[in-house]
Amino acid sequence: MSLAGEIPSSFTDSSPLALKVLITADPKEVYLRRAERLAELAKDSSLEDYLALCRSMVLVQHKLCDTLMGPAPDIDTDATMPLRGIQKNGYWIALLQQLLSELLDTVPANVVQVIRQLMRQTPEQLQQWAGSLLDGRFSQVPAEYRLFLWAALSVYWSHWAAAVASRMDTTEIKQQSMCPVCGSHPVASVVVDKPREGLRYLHCSLCETQWHFIRAHCSSCNQAKEMSLWSFDKYQTPVRIESCDDCHGYSKMLFMNLDPRMDAVADDIASMALDAKLNAKGFHATTVNPFLLADELSD
Ligand SMILES: [Zn+2]
Ligand SMILES: [Zn+2]
Repeated sequence: MSLAGEIPSSFTDSSPLALKVLITADPKEVYLRRAERLAELAKDSSLEDYLALCRSMVLVQHKLCDTLMGPAPDIDTDATMPLRGIQKNGYWIALLQQLLSELLDTVPANVVQVIRQLMRQTPEQLQQWAGSLLDGRFSQVPAEYRLFLWAALSVYWSHWAAAVASRMDTTEIKQQSMCPVCGSHPVASVVVDKPREGLRYLHCSLCETQWHFIRAHCSSCNQAKEMSLWSFDKYQTPVRIESCDDCHGYSKMLFMNLDPRMDAVADDIASMALDAKLNAKGFHATTVNPFLLADELSD
C-alpha cells in the first residue's frame, strides 16, 4: 500500500474527496449507537454482565446530553488542545451527580455501594481525581471510581468538542498521538472508506472526536519502519491490531467497511482476548478505554 497516496496534497482542499483532519461527534448519536452495539456484543459473550453494566452507563450518558451544560467554558481555539483544563469550572460535577443518581436503579448491589461512596465525596476531592485522570495519572484515583468519573467528564467534553473543533485551524494540526481537541489518549483506530478508501482515524477516549493519522505509522512513537498488522480469527477480520517493534506499543484498528456497526469503545472491550495475546508477546496498549480503567494499574 502506498502511504503517500493517502496523504492529501493540501488539507484545505475543498473537493468532496478532501480529507477531513477532524471528524466531530454528535454525542447523543454516538451513545445511542454504542448502547446498541454493546447489547449486540453481549449476546453469547462471556462478558455479558460487564457489557450490560457498560450499556446502562452509556444510556445514562445519552440521557445527560439533554442536560443544561452551563455557560460555555473559557476556550482559546488557537491553543493546542483547546479543551484541556475545562474541568476547573466544576460544571462536570453536576453531571456526575446526575449520572450516579440515574444509575442507582439499574446496577447490581455491589456497584450501588460504590456509587453511594462516590456520591459522598467533596467537590475538591472530585476535582483532584478529575485532574489526575485527565493527566493520565490513573493510579492516583481509586480504581472503582474511575469509570464513573470518566463517563461524566466525557459527557461534558463531548458536548463542547464539536463547537470547538469547528473553530480550530486544522492546517496547524500535525500527526499526533493525543487528541488535538482535548489532549486525551485514543481508544482505538477506525479505518473508514469515505471520502477515500482506507483512511485511518484515531478515536478520542474522552471527547469522541476522531483525528486523521496515517496508516502503518505507530500512533505512539510515529515511526513507520517496523509495524505489524495482526489478524487473529480469519482473513479480513474487522478488528485487527497494529503493533510497533520499536516502542512495543499496539493499538486496535476497526475496519468499518467490514462491519459498519462497530464502535471504538464497545468493540475494544469485546475484543479483550486479543489484548491478552499481544501482552503475551511483550507488547503494551498505547490506548485507553474508559470502560477498562478499573483494571488500569500503571500511570
Ligand atoms: Zn478528545
Ligand atoms: Zn511505536
